[in-house]
Amino acid sequence: MLDIPIIRQDFPILGHKVYDKPLVYFDNAATTQKPRVVVEKIRDAYYNVNANIHRGVHFLSQAATEAHEEARQTVQQFIHARSAHEIIFTRGTTEAVNLIASGFADAFMSPGDEVILSAMEHHSNIVPWQLQAARKDIALRVVPVNERGELCMESYRDLFSERTKLVALTHVSNVLGTINPVEEIIRIAHRHQVPVMLDGAQAVPHVQVDVQALDAEFYVFSAHKIYGPTGIGVLYGKEEWLEKLPPYQGGGEMIATVAFEKTVFNELPFKFEAGTPDYIGSTAFAEALRYVEGLGIERIAAHEQELLRYATERIQAAGPVRIFGQAAHKSSVLSFLMGDIHPYDMGMLLDRLGIAVRSGHHCAQPLMKRLGIEGTVRASFALYNTKEEIDTLIAGLEQIQTMFLKK
Ligand code: PLP
Repeated sequence: MLDIPIIRQDFPILGHKVYDKPLVYFDNAATTQKPRVVVEKIRDAYYNVNANIHRGVHFLSQAATEAHEEARQTVQQFIHARSAHEIIFTRGTTEAVNLIASGFADAFMSPGDEVILSAMEHHSNIVPWQLQAARKDIALRVVPVNERGELCMESYRDLFSERTKLVALTHVSNVLGTINPVEEIIRIAHRHQVPVMLDGAQAVPHVQVDVQALDAEFYVFSAHKIYGPTGIGVLYGKEEWLEKLPPYQGGGEMIATVAFEKTVFNELPFKFEAGTPDYIGSTAFAEALRYVEGLGIERIAAHEQELLRYATERIQAAGPVRIFGQAAHKSSVLSFLMGDIHPYDMGMLLDRLGIAVRSGHHCAQPLMKRLGIEGTVRASFALYNTKEEIDTLIAGLEQIQTMFLKK
């Protein structure tokens, strides 16, 4: 069991009050709070090891380079990649998807080719593909979602054609919490010789990810959703695929030699890391991963599952609630609507009680359309949340409901 009161002391922000009420932070799917070790790592890196990396021969530059490359190894080990040069640092999930969409469309797709997405994708795994679809005249095929918020696997199987070039799906839905059957998804795609990219933004903080066991060709995620800093994320790719993809951006660092006649690109991972990378962010990111490893992802998941179970049970007893996302396998995300209270009203009223939830379409408008709603209220739980905080949420919901009934 995790010692939550002790763990909470690692996160100074959790001790804050908003509107004179203790902060209840349930917006973890948007971004997580940062433990002290991560914030201190950033400060320490700027104070003690700040110099631009890779090209410098001086002491500080070498120390900073070493820290950055060690961070890459930490990420590699965290997701069980075969080699550190299969880890590309990006600005986040969004940039990683754009990198793949752009390179993949250029290198492997012709007019009429198809990419399989799903109806539960975040906009960042839809729009990059639409941009390429418009540029290269390729088609997007969409796996539907059933009433429980699960992918329709029969339809997925039927979507493959001679023209399918890639499957790009989310591992875990940011709205429904659904943990998709990615092993099966990948097995089916591979039977058709189609590579798979998984959006792991909502998975990595909650489930053990082993990219080799999964056998995904690409896997992307963001540091800030797993207790790390903003502005940095990861594109994992199998070496053979990364070798085949063209560079995404040009500039320093990604080249071996430059002449006006011809430029030779650098080897992996640097081919995809044009310009000065976020070498401070990478070391803080590694610190966050070590923090998570120290607690144990399985223990974190067990705690979050208990919070989800408790919250689901309590909210259903609290009033006329519709829960969106009733998949058999769910992460700690609870999307709901109460009566006909608009999600923005609910979000604002909860905020006045010190409770931070997200309301709206959650960057998944096609999913909202599928569900026939404008948006939901989303409470998403992390390792530092407690049942007492859920009690506060439920009391808040009951109070708001009474207010609306009186109207
Ligand atoms: N994919 C999913 C499933 C997400 O939940 C998010 C963020 O909410 C993203 C992608 C985009 O992540 P980022 O904004 O860190 O690039």
